[in-house]
This record gives sequence, C-alpha cells and structure tokens, in this order.
Amino acid sequence: MKYLLIAVTTYFFSFAAMASDAVEYRTNLTFSPESSALNAVTEMLIPKKYRNNGTVALFLNKDFSVESVEGQHIESFEVKQSKKVPIWNEVIIEFSPSTKANNKTVRIKYAGSIDNKAQHGNFITSNQVHLSIDSAWHPVFSDFSTPILGAVTLELGDEWEVFGPGNVTSSGKKYQVNSIEPTIDVSLYAEKKPTSIHSDGFTVVYDDSNAERAEFVSNAGHQCFKQMNQRFGKHKQLKAVQAIVLERSGPSFARGNYISLNSQTLGSKVHTHQYLCHEIAHNWTNLTSAMSHDYWMIESFAEYISAKEVARIYGEEEFENILKKWQARAKGEAFVWRRETDRRASHKVNYGLGPIALMKLQEKLGEADFSELLDWYMTSNVTKTEALITKVGTLAGADTESWFSDLLAGNNSE
Ligand SMILES: [Zn+2]
Repeated sequence: MKYLLIAVTTYFFSFAAMASDAVEYRTNLTFSPESSALNAVTEMLIPKKYRNNGTVALFLNKDFSVESVEGQHIESFEVKQSKKVPIWNEVIIEFSPSTKANNKTVRIKYAGSIDNKAQHGNFITSNQVHLSIDSAWHPVFSDFSTPILGAVTLELGDEWEVFGPGNVTSSGKKYQVNSIEPTIDVSLYAEKKPTSIHSDGFTVVYDDSNAERAEFVSNAGHQCFKQMNQRFGKHKQLKAVQAIVLERSGPSFARGNYISLNSQTLGSKVHTHQYLCHEIAHNWTNLTSAMSHDYWMIESFAEYISAKEVARIYGEEEFENILKKWQARAKGEAFVWRRETDRRASHKVNYGLGPIALMKLQEKLGEADFSELLDWYMTSNVTKTEALITKVGTLAGADTESWFSDLLAGNNSE
C-alpha cells in the first residue's frame, strides 16, 4: 500500500490547476495531540460543473468518522471505501435534483486520528503537525483534478508557527493558512518553537537531524529563488518561499511557495538543488488542466529551467548527467505532443522527452531567441502547445515552426 500511495502522489499531485474554476473551502481545525487526533469542519461551495449526476465524491482518510454532512440542497450522503484508492474512503454526497442553484454549500464535520507511524509522512504530536494529501486528512475531489482554493484555521497554543502554501496570518492562538493558487489538496506544517533559517524571503524550517543539511537547502533554495525572481519577476514577484526539511517518511512535494522535503530521499546536493529549482520555477509556469495534452509544458519547462540552473552553478558536466537521466526516462516514448491526441502525457514525456525537445529547440533557435521564448512562456499566460509552436514561427520563421511541430509529434527522422 505504501508504494501505491506514493506512486499515486507523485503521479497526480504535482500541479496547480485553473484559477477561475476553483471550489472554495473554509476549514476549522482543532487537535488532540495525545491521540494524534484532529477535529474538523469543512465548508465547500460546490459549483454545478463539479456535480456529476447530482453527486460529488470526496476522498477522506479511512480512520476518520464523518459526523455530519449538511447543506440546504443535500439529499443524502454515504461514506464508503474508495475503489480508486482503496486505502482511502470516499464521502459521496447526493444533492436534491429539484434545486437549480449553481453553487451549493456543504458542511462536513469529521474527526479522527492520524497514524503517525504510517508511511504517508503525516503526523500530529504535541510539538508538530504535518498534513498533506498523503493521509487524505482534508476532503479532496476524487477525480484528482478539481481545483480548490481557500483557508484553513487552526487552533494551537502559544509559540507555534504555521507554514503552508500562500500566506499565513495569526491572531492569538488562531492561525490561518490562506491559499493563493488553486491546487487539488490542502497541506500545512505547524511546529512549536521551530528552528529555521531566513534569508531574504527564503525560509528553511528543519528538525534536529537536519541541522547540517538545512544550510545547504537554504543556500541552494535562496539562490534559485533570487535568480527566478530576477529573470521572471517582472511578471510576478515571488515574495516568500518556505522549505520544510524533516526526517520523516512519505514523498517530498511542493505547493506553490511551500515545499516539504523528506530528508531521507533528498539525494545528492545537485539533485536537491535541481528539485528546489524545479519547484520554485513552477510559480511561473502557467496553469493548465492537469489532464490535458498541454500539461507537458508545465513540467518540461520547469525541468529544463532547473537543469540549466544546475549547469550555471555546477557546470556543463552536471547538465550532461541530467540529460542522461532524461534520455533513459524517455526510452520508448514516441512523441511529446500531438494535436489530435488529447490526453495527459506520461511521466517519461514530462520529465524526459519534453525537456529534451526544449534542449533541441534551444540548439536550433540559438541563445537569444530561445531566451526570448522562455521569458515569453514564463511571463505571459501560455497554456496551449499551439501557442508555443506559433511563437517559434514568429521568432524563427515557418520552416523552424514546422520543424518544431514535427519534433513534438515525433515525426523528425534524426
Ligand atoms: Zn513539477
């Protein structure tokens, strides 16, 4: 089960979705650390487009009990084991068919204990709270692609600090994590008297076992944060990034300006640097549906930019090492993007064949034109591969445009 969950996580969850479509949530959380338990009330405003035959299905941790599901238009609800992810439950809510209301509010009251020792890496103790999709602690849509946006309010004691995507505000013993970019899940970290390093907007929070590693993460992360802001910040300045480095189980993940690292799986310094930079670059890659054939651009651009950062700092040799990984990953994949094939590309394309295509494009266009293309992609709202192909034509002419289109489609004989 451990491997299933981690595979699901890395495959589905490394993206942000479309801003305009987000479902709003408001969640209140209290904790009983002695039993690693949480008590939650979540309110969601569910638009018609996300109701499937008048119902919605939300994932939730199997050890949680759902006390109530309320709302003006709710006919019934049931909680049962998910077929899609059998280690989780689904809360299936049926709305009354008579109402035509666009937005329907649901209020879900639930409670339960987090298994601190489970491989998902989530836990609640008297000093720390780490919560992410991996424990299904917060209701998320079972299609893995409905974007949500909102706020979580936590009640904690004095001297706690809370970290999460977006920004965090506090008043007294209440802390609020306000997400800014829609994602499909809700994640946060809270600690009593945390240890951290700050450098110019880049913060690293770490546990005792990562005291040495923290400095490297801080330097690498800050370097990339500064570089990306310098390069692409005219469009959108990234104000602050937090990286949480813990010796825990479960996958590393990033949500916008919040990065949570499992220090046991960080790998080499170069690899860590690239990982941080890939995630930071995502703050400029443009939002598109995670299930579409244009999704490859988000991952491949972040991957390529982070590899180029590695080259800039550690030298071409390290770039060559990354290229070898891309090539190994890309084996057996025939194409990056085809107009007529509208499905999400595989991991092999997103982190292999895609960045290789961008590398070939750079070689073809030359430094200046490619750099212009990169700035354009990162600072304007580009969500379609067609737009990228057209831009190549604008920069380098019709022949290069069709060369690139063929390259993506796997039609070039090279
Ligand atoms: Zn990514």
